[in-house]
Amino acid sequence: MASHIVGYPRMGPKRELKFALESFWDGKSSAEELQKVAADLRSSIWKQMADAGIKYIPSNTFSYYDQVLDTTAMLGAVPTRYNWNGGEIGFNTYFSMARGNASVPAMEMTKWFDTNYHFIVPELGPDVKFSYASHKAVTEYKEAKSLGVDTVPVLIGPVTYLLLSKPAKGVEKTFPLLSLLDKILPIYKEVIAELKVAGASWIQFDEPTLVMDLDSHQLKAFTKAYVELESSLSGLNVLVETYFADVPADAFKTLTALKGVTAFGFDLIRGTKTLDLIKGGLPSGKYLFAGVVDGRNIWANDLDASLITLKSLEGIVGNEKLVVSTSCSLLHTAVDLVNETKLDTEIKSWLAFAAQKVVEVNALAKALAGQKDEAFFSANAAAQASRKNSPRVTNEAVQKAAAALRGSDHRRATNVSARLDAQQKKLNLPILPTTTIGSFPQTIELRRVRREYKAKKISEEEYVKAIKEEISKVVKLQEELDIDVLVHGEPERNDMVEYFGEQLSGFAFTANGWVQSYGSRCVKPPIIYGDVSRPNPMTIFWSTAAQTMTQRPMKGMLTGPVTILNWSFVRNDQPRFETCYQIALAIKDEVEDLEKAGITVIQIDEAALREGLPLRKAEHAFYLDWAVHSFRITNVGVQDTTQIHTHMCYSNFNDIIHSIIDMDADVITIENSRSDEKLLSVFREGVKYGAGIGPGVYDIHSPRIPSTEEIADRINKMLAVLETNILWVNPDCGLKTRKYAEVKPALQNMVAAAKLLRTEL
Ligand code: GLN
Ligand code: ZN
Repeated sequence: MASHIVGYPRMGPKRELKFALESFWDGKSSAEELQKVAADLRSSIWKQMADAGIKYIPSNTFSYYDQVLDTTAMLGAVPTRYNWNGGEIGFNTYFSMARGNASVPAMEMTKWFDTNYHFIVPELGPDVKFSYASHKAVTEYKEAKSLGVDTVPVLIGPVTYLLLSKPAKGVEKTFPLLSLLDKILPIYKEVIAELKVAGASWIQFDEPTLVMDLDSHQLKAFTKAYVELESSLSGLNVLVETYFADVPADAFKTLTALKGVTAFGFDLIRGTKTLDLIKGGLPSGKYLFAGVVDGRNIWANDLDASLITLKSLEGIVGNEKLVVSTSCSLLHTAVDLVNETKLDTEIKSWLAFAAQKVVEVNALAKALAGQKDEAFFSANAAAQASRKNSPRVTNEAVQKAAAALRGSDHRRATNVSARLDAQQKKLNLPILPTTTIGSFPQTIELRRVRREYKAKKISEEEYVKAIKEEISKVVKLQEELDIDVLVHGEPERNDMVEYFGEQLSGFAFTANGWVQSYGSRCVKPPIIYGDVSRPNPMTIFWSTAAQTMTQRPMKGMLTGPVTILNWSFVRNDQPRFETCYQIALAIKDEVEDLEKAGITVIQIDEAALREGLPLRKAEHAFYLDWAVHSFRITNVGVQDTTQIHTHMCYSNFNDIIHSIIDMDADVITIENSRSDEKLLSVFREGVKYGAGIGPGVYDIHSPRIPSTEEIADRINKMLAVLETNILWVNPDCGLKTRKYAEVKPALQNMVAAAKLLRTEL
């Protein structure tokens, strides 16, 4: 009985790769130093898996930036603007594509399926001249081999690669990406041939797009690709790995009909129907790689339950052809629990990070082979039981309150136009009211204050004084700038989810539970382990303090339930919507306390609502329904005169506009830096809805300071499609990552533009 790992985190247990990359980018260390850190990480990962007893150990899942970019490099598909002259692609060209350079911006980045990992989107058109330009897959295979580890080299499959690409500039609408199959397959063949020569006996193609809604044309391309590769693959065992959902029935049929493919990998955690498909028929003689250990979460596997699943699969494919695996690459989980010295032992016993998951996979494989590690299994069973029965997990009052929410709709009684009228009487705002999204620049000094308070190096008194001073500065600045609806600037927050998680019960935090988000960037999601409740108010103190500093309305600033959910590791012992409803109730309490404390404008950020959208269309409606419902729950109880804002960090709304409207917020501010027209046409449809809309008038992701004319021009474009009385003027996101030297003039110009247009209307 064999074991397999789909892929492994690259950053290292203490983010070694991050620091090595950043130091190299800053010119503080050499390419050789970076390569050394990377090689050490790879070798320790391979050894760790080999020592654990894993049979099929992946190689080429390491990356200096991103595995899709690595594939672009392999295929030599470098956009011409990077002036690459052929030959093997080096750091210069590679990192220019990833991050841009002094003269050329980076390639576009987007989310990898429904994860928080971002990949570099290939830009392909008829002019791309493909060539075998990065031998990384072969080099890494050989590197592992020289360390005594025979690995399974992993490539992103040709169909997934093309389907994740975008047509290059100039051919945006017309270019059929799949027509490039004929051009890229020869390079795949070269790679395969070299891998064979190097001694590889297995190869893994990651084809996660197979879990999406593919049409018959796309599925045909899939068949075509693997039929075309068949002869070059002969002599190799070929694994096609899928993940993140089950493979739809037609795709399952297409996939399993491929003759040249000898093994199929399926996600049995998210692939809720996969088991039935497999039971319905897998061609005999093929390997089944059963992803029973969750690569997207941090929970210890329920080994007994997995063993039952595996045994039933064994009955179908036979003992020799069943391989125990992870549901997807472990890239999406934290690295090693060993470094969590501060987490309490009970919670720790419920968890497994990548390093522990490797051990779990192997323990399951051994158990299937009749060598069950009884001690390991019974410790696991005890941990499962402790998690199930722990009073820290269950709060009956919360369970009841959340259950009672179902069936009801939770809508504010008055419609949005009438509410806006009532609010305007109280707020008396000018047309084109100006506001910001919440955070102001986080200075080094500010971070120091928070850090020292956390470390108990400064007293609570000193901390409160420092934060209040910061708020007062931010308030004064906004008054000087003559902004209409103010914010307190969020100086007390390190992160918009962590801040709330730390004050809610049911959340735990790790010291090193980092997950790669893009390039060297990592996030450290909180862990939601139990029923969520709000023991104490979370923002009232700071918001009311801020309100006393000004006569103007001060926005209360909260993170919404869906965003808290989507940016955390969520418990897997109840449906996600259940947890979301619980968070919604906690935020509801906070909203009502803010209102009672005299705060009349409350913003509830749902920055991550869209990214929770399931991969398959058939599942969208269900998700959107409970997500939007959760949002409404938070503010259903407020008076008409209390103005509820929400903010979203993306503008790709086309498919979810009705859900956005269904959130029934009074004002929506959104990111708008990239796709003005598309977004506005979406909102034109929604105009009859009548809520206030603030499409960001400038991009805060760049240090560039927009001029008054430029902003006025943008507002004018919006006014051409939106009614004057619903338009708000604001930047497109929080200002946290910017410097005051950028923020001040930019906001000055923004207010000037709004004032200019007010006189013209
Ligand atoms: N209120 C938050 C801020 O301004 C919103 C951040 C976000 O949308 N990502 O920082
Ligand atoms: Zn935002």
